[in-house]
Formats: sequence, structure tokens, C-alpha cells
Amino acid sequence: MKINENFSRLEKNYLFIEIAKRVKAYETAHPDVSLIRMGIGDVTRPIVPAVIEAMKKGVDEMGDPKTFKGYEDSGTGYDFLKQAVASYYQSFGVTVALDEIRINDGAKSDTGNIVDVFGKGTVALITDPAYPVYVDTNIMAGNTVIYADSTEENGFAAMPDPNVRADVIYLCSPNNPTGSVYTKEQLKIWVDYAKENDAVIIFDAAYEAFISDPTLPRSIFEIEGARTCAVEMCSLSKTAGFTGMRCGYTVIPNELTAKTESGDTVRLSEIWNRRQGSKFNGVSYPVQCAAAAVFTEEGLKQIRENIAYYQNNAKIIGDTLDALGIFYTGGKHSPYIWMKCPRGMDSWTFFDFLLDQAHVVGTPGAGFGKNGTHFFRLTAFNTPENTKRAMENLKNALK
Ligand code: PLP
Repeated sequence: MKINENFSRLEKNYLFIEIAKRVKAYETAHPDVSLIRMGIGDVTRPIVPAVIEAMKKGVDEMGDPKTFKGYEDSGTGYDFLKQAVASYYQSFGVTVALDEIRINDGAKSDTGNIVDVFGKGTVALITDPAYPVYVDTNIMAGNTVIYADSTEENGFAAMPDPNVRADVIYLCSPNNPTGSVYTKEQLKIWVDYAKENDAVIIFDAAYEAFISDPTLPRSIFEIEGARTCAVEMCSLSKTAGFTGMRCGYTVIPNELTAKTESGDTVRLSEIWNRRQGSKFNGVSYPVQCAAAAVFTEEGLKQIRENIAYYQNNAKIIGDTLDALGIFYTGGKHSPYIWMKCPRGMDSWTFFDFLLDQAHVVGTPGAGFGKNGTHFFRLTAFNTPENTKRAMENLKNALK
């Protein structure tokens, strides 16, 4: 066989490898220094008790001949979980039907796999900087990738250029890596642009649970017209600490259609179902039981405590940057703080500076796109004690 040539067009996946290499070299040279890790986007709080209880019950059911479950018929998730997701959407005013919800093993799978249904010659419009999966999977599929710039000037919330055409648009709000959140007005401009172009928006809402201002949209479906041009992908990874459990959900409205090459109109949901029917067999029953418990009154109360814990860490970082007069986005409705590197440093120079002078490990913005060259991502997933220590160290380093 021959390898898909598109893989040779991918950027080398070196960001976290290079970080690990530099950290290891530093630790070897300074064995008595304890580093504070604020780079990785993984949660640190354990799964909440209501969810663990539900998962245990699901496991027990699998061991009982009366309640044992094999393959799930549809592979799109049990109704009890879809019902829980639909009620959750309803809590912020969005109505979705059960047959529009598809349960999956996390948002990475669907944000990556959706390229399977895009036609030949698709032009994908992706914000820069962005979560790397969008760019990589479009390049693997041989699509053309174009960019919408997120910059300091627009508060790292890229907006469409009416003179540029695209078939697919990737938006992520609250954003990884920049932590910025689109307002309803901004999303309406994107929705209108998508309709104008007959394009589809892939809306990644993996961090919606961090939004604490009720006027900010948690779902693209809060925007008029979005049901005919958008797919939404969401995850329990950051909402409920499911990075190691693996569960998320995708909403494809029944009204959303696209054209075949011969000009016929087809429902996107039907094509996606066909794709999933061949390549995906659903999420394990105990994990779906656990996921449904997230949306119970008790579950929501418990996960909100963890989110508040991270939000408090983000505030410690934001307050420090405010005091230092450093520009940043995020931190308010997001676990990410996207800061401008001080003293004109580029992001890798600042990485080394921060490691050496403050003993803090972060993520250089250059790893997320060209507009990250002079920016840096810190995450709120450490303890409050370490976050405070890191910020004290940063202040001292910049004295
Ligand atoms: N989307 C964004 C923007 C992310 O940052 C992540 C994970 O970091 C994901 C999707 C994938 O999440 P998961 O596959 O764990 O649900």
C-alpha cells in the first residue's frame, strides 16, 4: 500500500513533545526545583460522587442476566441519556429533539471524524489560533484550509470576511486556546455568513459549562437561524471531569441539509448516521449511566463545585495579569488564560523564561497557529496553592 500523501502535509506534532523535552532538560539540570504545571488542558478534580454511584449501578446491571446489555441498537446513545442532555439544553432555553442528539466517546472523535462527510474540494475556514484537530483532520482529508484571524485587536474573537467563501466553518466558544467567548451578536454574524455561503458551522462547545454570564450564548442554537446551518459538538470532559471516562454529544438539527455533487438535497444527519453506522458502535452502558447522572440536580450541583474551583484559579491568574498590566483574554468564562508575552518575547522565549525564572510550565501560543507567536496559554487546572505560588513567581520574575 501507499500512505495517504496528505499526512506529509501535516505540521510535525511537536508542541507537547518539545515542551516535555525542555522540561526534562531543566529538571535534570535543577533537581531541587519543583515545577508548577499550568500547560496541559486536562482536568485534575476527581469525578463527583453522584456520577460514580450511577456508574457503579450501571456496572452491576451489566453483571446481572436480567439487566445485562450488549450492543446498543442505534449506537447513538440510550434515550435516558439523550433525555438528560435535552433537559440540560432546555435549562438554557434551547429545544433539541432526542433524534438530533448523538452520544459519543468525546468531542475529539466527532470534531475530527466529521470531515468524512464533506465533499471533494471542501474549503474549511478555521480561526487562528485554534484547537489543532480542526486543521489536522481537514489536511488529512485533502481539504483546503483557510484562516480567520483572532488577534489582540478583535479580542481573539475572529469574525468572517464577507469577501472570503468557505464550505465549512469551525468555531469554538469558549475558545481553546484563547478563552474568548462569542456574544450572541457575533454568532449571529457568523450564522448569517454561513447561510450566505451555503456553509455549515461546526460549533465546538466543549467549554460551555464555564460560561457564568447568562447573556453569553452556551449553544449556537440560541442564535436565530442556526438550526439550518450548524452542528454542535459538546463534551463532558471539562464539564464533569470525563477526560478519562470518555463521553460527549453532538447535535445535528433535522432541518440541516447539504447538497450532493449532482445537486440533490440531503439531510446531514442521515449522512452522518450512515457514516457512524459503519464506523462507530456506541458508548459503553456504564459510562452512559454516569453521563446521565451529570445532568441530575445532585450531579449538576457537584460538578459546579469543581468548575468553581477552576474558575477561582483562573481568577487568581487574571488578577495577577491585571496587576501587572499584561493583556490577556479568557479566564472569566474559560479555564484558559491567553496572555501576551511580556517584553516583546516570542512564545518559546517566554516559555524558557517562565520555566527558568518562575518554575512554571505553560504552553507556547505558537503551537496553536501563527497568531499565537507572541501569546502564551496558562490553564486553571492546578490547585489554588500552586496557582498562587506560580503567580507570585511570575511577579518576581518580571520585577
Ligand atoms: N474541543 C476542544 C476545543 C478541546 O479543547 C478538547 C479537549 O481538550 C476537545 C474538543 C476534546 O475533548 P474530548 O475528546 O475529551 O471530549
